[in-house]
Amino acid sequence: MNNKRIWLSLAHMGGQEQRFIQEAFDTNWVVPLGPNVDGFEKDLQTLLEEDRYIVALSAGTAAIHLALIQLGVGPGDEVVCQSFTFSASANPIKYLSADPVFVDSESETWNISPYYLRQAIEDRIAKTGKKPKAIIPVHLYGLPAKMDEIMAIAQEYGIPVLEDAAEALGSEYKGRKCGTFGEFACLSFNGNKMITTSGGGALVCHTEEEAKYTKFLATQARDQAPHYQHSHIGYNYRMSNICAGIGRGQMLVLNDHIARRRAIHTLYKKELSDIPGISVFDNPSEDFNSNHWLTCVIVNPDVAGFSREDIRLKMEEENIETRPLWKPMHLQPVFADAPYYGGNTAEKLFDNGLCLPSGSSLTDDDIRRVISVIKNM
Ligand SMILES: *Cc1c(COP(=O)(O)O)cnc(C)c1O
Repeated sequence: MNNKRIWLSLAHMGGQEQRFIQEAFDTNWVVPLGPNVDGFEKDLQTLLEEDRYIVALSAGTAAIHLALIQLGVGPGDEVVCQSFTFSASANPIKYLSADPVFVDSESETWNISPYYLRQAIEDRIAKTGKKPKAIIPVHLYGLPAKMDEIMAIAQEYGIPVLEDAAEALGSEYKGRKCGTFGEFACLSFNGNKMITTSGGGALVCHTEEEAKYTKFLATQARDQAPHYQHSHIGYNYRMSNICAGIGRGQMLVLNDHIARRRAIHTLYKKELSDIPGISVFDNPSEDFNSNHWLTCVIVNPDVAGFSREDIRLKMEEENIETRPLWKPMHLQPVFADAPYYGGNTAEKLFDNGLCLPSGSSLTDDDIRRVISVIKNM
C-alpha cells in the first residue's frame, strides 16, 4: 500500500517563481524593496477588486501590529478580538501594552458572534468608561465572518475594524473580497497559507497616505534628512524583493489553487456527508464563498461512536497529518486574565473539530486515502 506522508497544507509552487527571483538577482535587487515588491503589491490590489493600497510586509503578524499602531492603540487600551483564532491575531495587541477582550464565535461561520460583540462593547464601556480601540474579526479557515452585522455594530459605536484575512485570500462575502471591509486588513503568505512567499504578509489600507505611513513605520521610521534621523519608533517589517518574487509567481496560480482547494472540499463533502456524526464545515448560504483553505469536520462522538481524537490518532498511524481546530484564545494560559464574552461555541468546536489535509498539491487519490480512514473507523 502507498503510505507516503499526506500533509495538512504544504507550499505549492507554480513554476514561475524562480523567474522572478532570477530577475531580482540579475538586477541586484536583493533588498527589502524593488520591482517584485511593487509588482506583488499591484497583483494583490488587482485581486481585491476595490480601491485599496497594499503594503507587502515580512509577516501577517507585522501587518496587524502596524494597523493597531495606526488605529492609535496604546498602553491600557482595549481591543476586541475573536477568541477562536490563531494566536497571531491577538499577540500584537500585547506588543502595544494594550489588552485583548475576547469574544465567542457563532456556529454558522465559526467567526465572531455579532450578539456577543455588542455585549462585549456595552460591558467594556460600562466597566472602563471608554470604548475598545478596535475590533478584530477573523475569516477562519477561509470562511468569511458576518461582515454586514459586524460593520453595522462597529459603525454604531464608532470603533474601527481590523480584518484578519490571513486565511481568506480570495474568499468573498456577498460578492466582495475578504480584506476590503475593515479600516485595515491583514493578509498572510506564510508557508501553509493559500499562497506563500516562504514567509510574509501584507497590510491592506484605505488611503495612499496610510500606505505611505505603513511603509515608513516598516522601514525604521527614518525622517527626510541626508543623515539618519528619527522622530518615531520604527520597525524592520518590509518584505524582501526575493520573497516578493515568489509571491508574484504564486499570484499566477492563485486561482488554480483556490479552485483545487474548493474541489477537495467538494470531494470530502460528497464522501463524508452520509457518515452519521460527521459534518463537513461549509458556507452557510450563498452570501459566503470560502476559499476552503482547510476543510474541517466536526465529530459528534455520541452519534459517530468515535471522537475527533480517535480519528486524529488513526490518521497518524496511517501517516496522515490532521490537526485539531484552533484552541480559543480565552482558554490559552497566556491570556488567562483577559475578559471574555460568550458561551461555549468556540470551546465545543475546539473539542470536536478536526482539520483535514487540504493542500492544493494533493491528488484525489490522496484525499480518498484520508476519506477511507474515516469510513473505516
Ligand atoms: C497565519 C495567520 C496569521 C499570521 O500571519 P503570519 O504571516 O504567519 O505572521 C494571523 N492570523 C491568522 C488567523 C492566521 O492564520
